[in-house]
Parts: sequence; C-alpha cells; structure tokens
Amino acid sequence: MWRNIRILILLLILLAIALNQYFDRVYSTDWNTPLRVTIYPIDGDGSPVTAQFISKLQHDRFQPLEAFFEREASFRGLPLEHPIQFKSAPQLRDIPPALDRNANVFGIIWWSLRMRYWAWRTPDGLGVAPDIKLFVVYHDPALTPTLAHSVGMQKGLYGVVNVFADQSMIGSNDVITAHELLHTLGASDKYDPRNSQPLNPIGYAEPTKQPLLPQTHAELMGGRIPLTSTKSEIPESLDQVVVGPLTAAEIRWKKP
Ligand SMILES: [Zn+2]
Repeated sequence: MWRNIRILILLLILLAIALNQYFDRVYSTDWNTPLRVTIYPIDGDGSPVTAQFISKLQHDRFQPLEAFFEREASFRGLPLEHPIQFKSAPQLRDIPPALDRNANVFGIIWWSLRMRYWAWRTPDGLGVAPDIKLFVVYHDPALTPTLAHSVGMQKGLYGVVNVFADQSMIGSNDVITAHELLHTLGASDKYDPRNSQPLNPIGYAEPTKQPLLPQTHAELMGGRIPLTSTKSEIPESLDQVVVGPLTAAEIRWKKP
C-alpha cells in the first residue's frame, strides 16, 4: 500500500516536471508577444578590470541584440515586430555552480539540477518575471585568455554566458549571447564539435554562394564565418551574422 502511494507521488512529480517543460517550450516559442529576457551581469574573477567594466555597462547595450532579432525575424516572415526584449538586472553577487571539467554523466546531471535550482531561485529583477534568464559572466582577458563553454538550457529556460570584460569584444560577446539564447529556445548547434567548423549547408549563412568559400557571414548556430574548408573566424558583431532557415524553424519563427 505505502509502496504504491510512494510510486504514485513520484509519478505525479515526474508528470508535473514533464508538463512544466512542455508548457515552457510552447510558451517560449509561441511568438504572440515579445519574449522577455533578463540579463544578470556577474563578475567572474574579481579583477579590477572586470569590476570597472561592469560598473560602466550602458543601459542601451542591448540595442544591437534587439535590432538583430528584429531584422532576422522580419526576414523569416515573423509578424511580431519586436520579437525579443532585453532588460538588465542589477549585478548578481552570486556565482553560478561550476561544472567540473572531468565530470561524468552523473556529475553533469547533478550539476544541471543544482544549476536549474540556482537559476530558479535568482530574483526576477525589476517588474514582470522574465521568460528567460541569462547569466552573463564577465572575465578579464588578461586572467582568462580562453573562456569556459557557455550554455543555454531549454529545460529551465536559462543560460550561462561567459564573455570578456573588454570594450573591443562587445560585438563578439553579443554573438555568444544571441547563440546561447537560441539554445534556450530549442535551436541546435550547427558546427562540427571536433574542429568548430560550421556544417555545410545548415551552418552556413549563404550555402548557395558561388564560390562557396570564403563566406562573409556566419549562421548564428554555425557560430563562425567559414573561410576555407579548415579555417573559420568568430564574427566581430551581429552585423556579420544571420539566422538560417533550419534555426528559424527550430525556434518556431515559421508557424506550422
Ligand atoms: Zn551552441
């Protein structure tokens, strides 16, 4: 009897989680109203360079991101004029749980549960609760020349975005932010994880271009601008990036 009740309770919890994830997925990509994204700046290393950079963050710094999504959504035929609205929360003093580099599959599951709980209990910031929370962690390039991987999680609707606290990197920081945001909406990577080369044709901005290489733009989830069959470069700003047809379909910009 007790055993059956315990199993029933467990099944109800799993059902609640599954339904919650299903509705998150449906509402985050219904595109009836603008998606609300709140960005939480976080100091990743405590260096004076990072602290100063965060203290000087401009209020209008999301303009290139909003303009990018407006341009690309309109090109893909989405009727919503302003698809994504960004807002900044005050700087978070808390740092997201770190994932151990050598973590096995159980370590990753444990980390993702802790991370999801951490994101969920983070205050919503000002006003209405956001649809998506992006934790943007700034690093001083002199202390961290190579950034840890960023993540965008559809389960829990949050992202952890590692970027450089450097004025000259603002454009490429926006590209990483937009890339991780689309992961939270269900877009998949379109590059070869072994060498970071974009996949042809799905990870190319202009797969029918003649000659095919070099390309001049990157597909957002392809991540880089392909120059030769073995070389590609990180875009300097969202002006060099497009959202390809497969990515647009994955985030449901095209109504079925
Ligand atoms: Zn990715």
